[in-house]
Amino acid sequence: MSFAVPFARRGSLVDDSDVAAVARLVSEAGTLSAGEWRDRFERRFAEHVGAKHAMSVTSGTVALELAIQLLDLAPGDEVIATPQTFQATLQPLLDHDVQVRFCDVDPLSLNMDPVVLRTLITERTKAILLVHYAGYPAQMDEIMAIARKHGIIVIEDCAHALGSEYLGRRPGNLADIGCFSFHSTKNITTLGEGGMLTFNRDDWAERVERRRSNEVDGIFVSQANDGEPFLLPWMKFSADVYRMACVGVRRSGTNATLSEAAAAAGLAQLDKLDSMVARRQEIAARLDEVIGSFEGTRLHQTPVGSTHARHLYTFFVEDGRDDLVRSLHGLGVEVQLRYFPLHLTPEWRWRGHRAGECPEAERSWFTSHMNLPCHPGLTDLQVDHLVDAVATSLSKENACRTSMSGSMRVG
Ligand SMILES: *Cc1c(COP(=O)(O)O)cnc(C)c1O
Repeated sequence: MSFAVPFARRGSLVDDSDVAAVARLVSEAGTLSAGEWRDRFERRFAEHVGAKHAMSVTSGTVALELAIQLLDLAPGDEVIATPQTFQATLQPLLDHDVQVRFCDVDPLSLNMDPVVLRTLITERTKAILLVHYAGYPAQMDEIMAIARKHGIIVIEDCAHALGSEYLGRRPGNLADIGCFSFHSTKNITTLGEGGMLTFNRDDWAERVERRRSNEVDGIFVSQANDGEPFLLPWMKFSADVYRMACVGVRRSGTNATLSEAAAAAGLAQLDKLDSMVARRQEIAARLDEVIGSFEGTRLHQTPVGSTHARHLYTFFVEDGRDDLVRSLHGLGVEVQLRYFPLHLTPEWRWRGHRAGECPEAERSWFTSHMNLPCHPGLTDLQVDHLVDAVATSLSKENACRTSMSGSMRVG
């Protein structure tokens, strides 16, 4: 089915500026992997976020995988996670022998509820995995206070939150590790796939660097280039090799390096971030205005002091949600319901999770919330159509509800 107003296939505008950046890099005849463009993109990104390190990788999922590896999880450890997110947030945990405790969400924001979080902490809690749902910053002051008190590491999945702000600071610098995605649908894209980790610890930077580049040691590379062919390499470097062997068991490593072309495009995209987020907010404001004028609706409005990047436009209805979705689809507006509560997916049910574990997340997804198209690729005409379709559908829904309650009263 094709829609007059589709959900984002691209969440950002890819235009001449991105093409020019890639063309320039291609004409330079330098490396296409792990070069200057990657360094530049990472420096700019770190500055933007306000973190000491920004390290790019091939996707948001890989960023989360590497972040979770930094936790050194051991059997029996517990991780507290939000169920209201895309599956990639928690997927890497499926390979670890750990207990996941799902933390219900605050019904206003759909972010992890700090009040519930407090009740889930045990002495085995090693980490908290949260998302800034739709770009609405989570209650980080409360969450970090709890985490610091118990020595728990917090990973923020910032896949929606590039362009958001929380009390003057940016996601990616609100917890211990930030993970970003530059997938085609996200707020910026590195030509389809890409991701970033942000954090402040130097030892983590070293570990991520080794891990994302096959655990290759600079030291082994240099021995081929040092111009002293008669000295056997192991004689010269044995002390270092011995030292490294003592550091611990070597791991497999992987190649998760972002290509130069992707990094060049990422830099060009960052220049456009503010205007693209402004466009999202402009569309969201128009939707808020019309939806807020109907009874029985609730908006996804951020508190004063925070900025909502509107990666997803979310709102809530008291009843008739599914009829509303059908009506909007009939009028050519593509609606999505993000996200199905993760604890109810087969992989987590198989691990013992059940309905009732996160009542707010369940109630919201099954009866109340919905997501409308809201991205800079929409034309003014499409936005007008979207706003009209929403008004029409909500009026129909309201009329239906009034007549139903009227007939019930009569009966
Ligand atoms: C998109 C997304 C991811 C995964 O990012 P990819 O770059 O697609 O691997 C993770 N978490 C959330 C919340 C996302 O929206």
